Amino acid sequence: MTKSLEIAVVGTGIAGLASAWLLSRRHRVTVYEAADRPGGHAHTHDVTVDGVRFPVDSGFIVYNHATYPNFVRLLAQLGVPGKRSDMSFGVRCRRCRLEYSSRGPGGLFAQPRRLLDPRHWRLLADIPRFNARARAFLEAGCPGDPDLGEFIAGCGVSDGFVRHFLLPMGAAIWSSPNRDVVAFPARSFLTFFANHGWLTVDGAHQWWTVEGGSRSYVEALVRQLPERALRLNAPVRGIAREAGRVAVRTEAATERFDEVVIATHADQALALLADPSDEERRLLGAFRYSRNRATLHADREALPRARGAGASWNCDLDDCRDDARPVSLTYHMNRLQSLPVSTPVGVTLNGTRVAPERVLAEMTYTHPILDRAAVEAQEPLKRLSGARGTFYAGAHLRYGFHEDGLMSALWVAEHHGITL
Ligand SMILES: Cc1cc2nc3c(=O)[nH]c(=O)nc-3n(C[C@H](O)[C@H](O)[C@H](O)COP(=O)(O)OP(=O)(O)OC[C@H]3O[C@@H](n4cnc5c(N)ncnc54)[C@H](O)[C@@H]3O)c2cc1C
Repeated sequence: MTKSLEIAVVGTGIAGLASAWLLSRRHRVTVYEAADRPGGHAHTHDVTVDGVRFPVDSGFIVYNHATYPNFVRLLAQLGVPGKRSDMSFGVRCRRCRLEYSSRGPGGLFAQPRRLLDPRHWRLLADIPRFNARARAFLEAGCPGDPDLGEFIAGCGVSDGFVRHFLLPMGAAIWSSPNRDVVAFPARSFLTFFANHGWLTVDGAHQWWTVEGGSRSYVEALVRQLPERALRLNAPVRGIAREAGRVAVRTEAATERFDEVVIATHADQALALLADPSDEERRLLGAFRYSRNRATLHADREALPRARGAGASWNCDLDDCRDDARPVSLTYHMNRLQSLPVSTPVGVTLNGTRVAPERVLAEMTYTHPILDRAAVEAQEPLKRLSGARGTFYAGAHLRYGFHEDGLMSALWVAEHHGITL
């Protein structure tokens, strides 16, 4: 029987909450959250549209059974149901006056004139061509280990495919501008695509969303934490490792623990350490983040115009050649979460055109940029986790998504002999 430890957990995103929930089976946990609600990017709002009040998510929205096995198991253990989501992808490029979506022939040719546009046919033909090249590259063990940009250049695919399909999709998934997406290692980008069934025409998974919004599972997790374990509005200001203990400082007090799990983003984790080692400085410092303004709204104008071009994820490019600008993307929440109203409700990242009177809520989310420096820091940071009583958790330790945040909590728990 191992000794029960006093463990501090900093942050209540999926990584921190799941760490706290698992560790609390054997240890005494104290959970610090800077915000006034738990959940981090699992963020549900109650909104009223057309006189109907309902919950809608603005951060974490969807998962699937194939690539989120642990999250699916977590929901089952908590007794929280999911419901089917509709996933599709659309692009509007204002510079090229192009609009299309992945929603069948009516979406691919939402603009009938594209039937006579050889560049559009080439874009479509390049999808299976690129997929085949990518599958062969992964099967061969990723020879040369190129960045995505270098890999694309060797594929012989058209500029239209790259600018109006591949980069918008990557930019939308990782909330990053093109210039950051092309710097991702091709290996990790394409492995993620392959795992999600996007490198085959018929491999796409059924996507799901949490019934009642993501806070349903957050609340279920919090209910299972020991009483008074969770402290909201309690930003940690500093963490110092001294004499085999960990001192956690907030505005109110400095408290000492046997261990700490830092489940904030990597840059925040580094800023909290009063005494970072050279290795902690180097590894945590390897992660950069993109800042994205997110607007929850009921503005029909934020969605595509052409019939059929509307999708669940809608990229809105002013200029497909602008590699520096953050992607502007609207999640069509009615499609994703089957909302009880017909007025379109969207979450727009980095949009400039949402009418102020249609805004329901505004947030800023940061997302890890998983370039080569970040990807190369992941394994050593996982190995370092636990040294000096300090564990690291967060979605940035893998691909940046919900299953990844949960997996990072499972690694921390496994270290303590606890499994899901
Ligand atoms: C708009 C958007 C949509 C997304 N959609 C999806 C999706 O559909 N599916 C998917 O799988 N992923 C999605 N993601 C990715 C999502 O970010 C991850 O899935 C995951 O939620 C990140 O979890 P985390 O625990 O690592 O970090 P976070 O959820 O960001 O949690 C970190 C927590 O640490 C807290 N914190 C920070 N500093 C301190 C401090 N000093 N003291 C105390 N607390 C602190 C923060 O307040 C926060 O609560 C989306 C992301 C965004 C931005």
